Amino acid sequence: MKYCPKCGGPMFPVKKGKTIYLKCRRCGYEMKATEKDLKKYKVVHKTDEKEKVVTTKVISQVRKASASPDELERAKEEYYELVLDQLGEYGE
Ligand SMILES: [Zn+2]
Repeated sequence: MKYCPKCGGPMFPVKKGKTIYLKCRRCGYEMKATEKDLKKYKVVHKTDEKEKVVTTKVISQVRKASASPDELERAKEEYYELVLDQLGEYGE
């Protein structure tokens, strides 16, 4: 747990876009969270390890079962189309 340098209140992680900030619940003070800071928030970010492992296992089993070479090729094409579309938008 990290405490606010201004008022000493408890600070909690807030996600803004890709950056995670620590925000004071008491006075609203915000500071950019470093990875080191976030390690103190294991409880907040905790996912059930057992559940996580099971989920990962299930996903890889599904992938193995369903991903034929054809499907992989199609997935690749879709990915490239998506990238090109985005680049096109940037160009305009
Ligand atoms: Zn504060």
